[in-house]
Amino acid sequence: MKDATWDLSVFYKGFDDPAFRADIDSVSGILSEIGTALDADMNDVQKLEKLIALDEKLVNVISSAFGFVQLTLSVESENMEALKYLDELSNMMVGVQLVVSRITRYVGGIENLNDVIHTSELLSKHRFIIEEMKESFDHMLPPDMEKWMLRMSLDGADAFSKLRDRLMGSHTVELNGENLPLPAVRGMANDADPAVRKSAYEAELASYKKVETSMAYCLGCIKGQAITMCEIKKYPDNLIQQLTESRMDKETLDAMLTAIKEALPDFRRYLKKKAELLGHKNGLPFYDLFAPIGESVKKYTADEAHELLVKVFTEVSPEMGAFIDHAFENRWIDMYPREGKAGGAFCAGFHDKKLSRVLTNFVGSFSDVSTIAHELGHAWHNKCLESMPVLMTEAPMPLAETASIFNETLLSHIVKSNADENTRFTLLESSLMESTQTIVDILSRFIFESNVFEARKTHIPTANELNQMMLDAQNESYGDGLDPDFRHPSMWVCKSHYYSPGLHFYNFPYAFGHLFGLGVFEKYLKEGASFLPKYNQLLASCGSGKIADVALSVGIDVRSADYWRSALNVIRKEVDEFIELCDRK
Ligand SMILES: [Zn+2]
Repeated sequence: MKDATWDLSVFYKGFDDPAFRADIDSVSGILSEIGTALDADMNDVQKLEKLIALDEKLVNVISSAFGFVQLTLSVESENMEALKYLDELSNMMVGVQLVVSRITRYVGGIENLNDVIHTSELLSKHRFIIEEMKESFDHMLPPDMEKWMLRMSLDGADAFSKLRDRLMGSHTVELNGENLPLPAVRGMANDADPAVRKSAYEAELASYKKVETSMAYCLGCIKGQAITMCEIKKYPDNLIQQLTESRMDKETLDAMLTAIKEALPDFRRYLKKKAELLGHKNGLPFYDLFAPIGESVKKYTADEAHELLVKVFTEVSPEMGAFIDHAFENRWIDMYPREGKAGGAFCAGFHDKKLSRVLTNFVGSFSDVSTIAHELGHAWHNKCLESMPVLMTEAPMPLAETASIFNETLLSHIVKSNADENTRFTLLESSLMESTQTIVDILSRFIFESNVFEARKTHIPTANELNQMMLDAQNESYGDGLDPDFRHPSMWVCKSHYYSPGLHFYNFPYAFGHLFGLGVFEKYLKEGASFLPKYNQLLASCGSGKIADVALSVGIDVRSADYWRSALNVIRKEVDEFIELCDRK
């Protein structure tokens, strides 16, 4: 690996690069061109073709300018220039949103839309998103209110969400006489020393007392605005709105939840076994959910991670292996943690530039290598989408994790099958620890959020109420797998997903993504290399259909609980193997 920081010069030379200013300034020009086209006296085919072309231009310019600012901020959180541009771009987005709404209203008013699309090659290529605009026409804000509502939201849900980020960004935890940043203390959940894990958990819970009233207001006001918006947009409830906007139907969600609830006893078997191994009698305390078990697996340098990933993926497909090598060699990845850099990991794709950028915080564990595999899965997904028009490349959240989970599962499958029994045990445990989060914890978050929406219809729930709702949700989901005396009542304070003004129930997509990725991987195991072209085609089509239709293209029926049962069966087998290895030890 040549350089462990990413190269952003492919966007602009810097904020003083004239091309950067020119791109920002071009947005208002494109918006007025769209306005002119909407008012022009043209037939619907010509007008719609013109609008699609302009929209495409708009999306590319915004993604470059926004991308450059956001990527810069993700590695330099205090870059004042970037923060200033972020504000400028956010304000500009209100104007963009209003113009997009005008296009949607125009499309909604075309009566013979099918004939219009049919007569044009360009429009036929964009059929799905044009029809989607027509459907969303029924759920638009009234035109005379829209501008005012968007502006009021800047001081409403958007402001509460920013307040949440400020409160949590500067939140510290007092531990052993020191004030530590929250992520550092939460990270101690992985510590090998049980005393450290327990005291970090106790200190974390105690620290929330100073912010929980403010956070309860943030949550209550964001959800309150969402309820009002949902009513104005004429959706039956917030869950249906979120599902519709995620291109998913209730039948699919219900099928998945049915199978998940049936599988809870298996997860609890795993949790109770882990509790037993750690010497607990009453189920696993929350502070030991992430406790490392087994011998620690080998540590990796960046070069070793690079080598391993290229080797594993080349065996599956030389094209995938070469792609991973290209990403490492061409500075697509910002690898190591440093001050001012965001935690966690993500991948951002840039369609017109045919490239992605990946942020990780690599410290050399196997899980860090797996994270790179995950993020490069997203990058591979972006590559498969290159063949599609940019307006057809936005995968809904539940499908967005398909390639990343596929990559993670593949890596762990190959490494596990070549490992000795001790390493295999450790890898199995860490895989179950993760599945428990994406399935069992996610279910508790779904239950919690449903109950918050219900309560918010009558009042802003207090911190005490929210704490109790979280304990109840964890009880329903983890059951006797978790020690009732040591749960985590404040999970609603520390998880940012509840506070997004425009996205709600940002939890079921994780369970969907995890299980769907597993199911796709099982298909690969069964069908072998002949499945790969279908797989790449599936990835390419993620932004051009409803979820159930996209899944059917590779023979997966997501509306059937049996499909979800078969994906969960993969995890059940891991639980069986884990328990068997424990008993043998
Ligand atoms: Zn991901």
